[in-house]
Amino acid sequence: MSPAAATVIDLHTHSSVSDGTETPTELLESAKAAGIDVLGITDHDTVGGWDEAEAAARRVGIALVRGIEVTCREDSLSIHLLGYLTDPHDAALMGELAKARDSRATRLERMVERMAEGGIRITYPEVLAQVAPGATPGRPHIADALIANGTIRHRDEAFAEWLHDRSPYYVHHYSLDPVDAVRLVRQAGGVPVLAHPFTQTRGDVIGDGLIERMAVAGLAGLEAHHRDHGPDEVRHALELAESLDLLVTGSSDYHGTGKVNRLGELTTAPEVLERIVALASGATEVIRP
Ligand code: AMP
Ligand code: FE
Ligand code: FE
Ligand code: ZN
Repeated sequence: MSPAAATVIDLHTHSSVSDGTETPTELLESAKAAGIDVLGITDHDTVGGWDEAEAAARRVGIALVRGIEVTCREDSLSIHLLGYLTDPHDAALMGELAKARDSRATRLERMVERMAEGGIRITYPEVLAQVAPGATPGRPHIADALIANGTIRHRDEAFAEWLHDRSPYYVHHYSLDPVDAVRLVRQAGGVPVLAHPFTQTRGDVIGDGLIERMAVAGLAGLEAHHRDHGPDEVRHALELAESLDLLVTGSSDYHGTGKVNRLGELTTAPEVLERIVALASGATEVIRP
């Protein structure tokens, strides 16, 4: 038996401030119940859940790393960049996130129009009813509307049929160039880590060349351990992290009941978290119980 229980660190989760199904408070309570010691809240393109998450973390008594997951795009490739401990008042980064959120709303409306024209029973007001006030709207909210009106039972079904990136109903939203996003997160005092680098959503996968360019721009780490990666993807990520001198993280990408991912199913080593904290400017600190 080890003398002390290992610290369980899960640095990538979502609340209902983006496309998770639990409020930040419920997320922190779930994390506590799941035995998480350090939780990262990383809602898509927003810091809107940070204050509630902070209050809940102090109340339930677990450590909290506040972060974001920035949606980026290069050509038709969608890339997700985690940004930890950024200054939530940084005008350049917050301006870009606001632009992405606005464009996400317009884009969902266009997707719904296309789906309705295609004969799928869905309206934009039904979708809006699924988005919490001020939350980042996303495709999962279309799926939730289809669940609410009885068309499907799980988000997965909507993605498999209609919402995937190659669907005729798919519409892009404004998103940052990934190299620019790395620079913006750094300039905001934060620590950029590439989320699930080798997720295969359309057969297209990010090339090593782009990861190298992101590393030159200040990328700090790769989320090598993620449910979307098989053994080959993990190996590739570990090799790349070694050769580019990047940190390696692992996380659940929990979305409440919106995805099968379970809190703490993959984790990050305490030494890596220490390095992340050391790289941050200090504008945002880790909340400690
Ligand atoms: P969007 O941000 O609007 O482009 O939608 C992408 C989000 O949809 C991702 O962040 C995932 O959380 C979610 N997503 C993607 N595929 C699925 C799926 N098969 N089931 C549930 N959620 C999914
Ligand atoms: Fe998501
Ligand atoms: Fe992601
Ligand atoms: Zn995520």
